[in-house]
Amino acid sequence: MGTGAAEFDDSKIPHVALKLGLSYVETANDLVVFNVPGPRGNSRGDVAIDIELIAGLSAAIDRGAEMVKDYEGWVDPEIGFAEFELLRYGRSPLFYGHAQEKFEFDIRPCSHAHSASPPFEEYGDHIHPLVRVTSPDGQVCIEISRNGPFCPRRLPLETVLGMNRGSRSTSTLKVFMGGPMERFELERKSISLANSMIFELNARNRTACSLRPRVQESVRRSSASAMSYSVRFPRTSVPDSVAALFSSPHSPALRGNWTFSFLSYYQILEYYIPVVHRRDAVRSIRRLMRSLDFDVERDSSLVKVLNSVERSRGASEADQLRTLIEECVPEDKMRAFFEEGNAAHFSKKGPIAAVGAIHLNSGESLGSQVAKRVYALRNRIVHAKDDARYADAPVLLPGSVEAENLLPEIELMRLLAIEVIVDNR
Ligand SMILES: [Zn+2]
Repeated sequence: MGTGAAEFDDSKIPHVALKLGLSYVETANDLVVFNVPGPRGNSRGDVAIDIELIAGLSAAIDRGAEMVKDYEGWVDPEIGFAEFELLRYGRSPLFYGHAQEKFEFDIRPCSHAHSASPPFEEYGDHIHPLVRVTSPDGQVCIEISRNGPFCPRRLPLETVLGMNRGSRSTSTLKVFMGGPMERFELERKSISLANSMIFELNARNRTACSLRPRVQESVRRSSASAMSYSVRFPRTSVPDSVAALFSSPHSPALRGNWTFSFLSYYQILEYYIPVVHRRDAVRSIRRLMRSLDFDVERDSSLVKVLNSVERSRGASEADQLRTLIEECVPEDKMRAFFEEGNAAHFSKKGPIAAVGAIHLNSGESLGSQVAKRVYALRNRIVHAKDDARYADAPVLLPGSVEAENLLPEIELMRLLAIEVIVDNR
């Protein structure tokens, strides 16, 4: 499917780079060198991509190939083809070692021009594992093989800083359809076939892998709770369980498990909810009893106290969370957090569905807006079953595209947890 690199027009490279989110540096021998830009306009280092892959990608873009929205991958409607980055977990015999030759593959004659057949593909001095299966009617092939033009292998030229995504995959999953197909139809069908394939590879062949969700590159860590260079004798007393919850999002086993990290921070907030709620209730009763017209002999005065107690008893978890945040987290710290960045993430068009957007200039307090958003998100993560109360908020599963985009929420939760702990020390 590639245009040969020989007749490739170099002037098209910057356009291709733009699509890949890279900036073009130079062409050297058979490699094109790109710079990986960081979130603040800094550089994360340089990577090189085979010029033949860049030529193939350029040709595909010219004929209308498009990036897929939710996963790292592309569709090429004119030829009915899709390619996705594949994350492989563990060392499956399907991809490594001599056991590879024990596998049989469901291949049939098809209309595609495949360059190699399972279980290997040779190129230069290298061999690469190759898996391919064909549908019973010979129309559709699904293949796992070395990276093609849509997910070109990026060779780091130096330590590429902050990529923080493990090494980029060295295999991609490709879907070859019977012919041209409408773009969104192709996207939907190929993702669905990829997911079936991934499920059966895991269930039948003990080979675990997944598509790589697309993560918004603009996301960055907050400096609202900035790092200090002074190490001091501790003054914050922290209950043991809260200390354990606060460190668990950083445990290596859970790194990148954003839904779990979210819940760890949420549990810290939950720990303090009754304390702060009680404190708030006591304060409002004290205020009532200190008022000048309070008279312990009059029923109307006592009824006011009773009402206050009942209101406090009847407060929902969402209300209690709002009290906690409004009481313990200074509004200016939240404002600084939202002003600093990730505005798009917390806007109406952000990647997380069914949670309220944060408006800095609305009449509603930031504490109240944040509490609503956090509570809605918590419900989406916790309520795995379809519950009529959360009908408009589908469950948010670990590893999903939304889960992979939770980092700004985690930064927010960390800020809330720190402020709540410090306020209650
Ligand atoms: Zn085929």
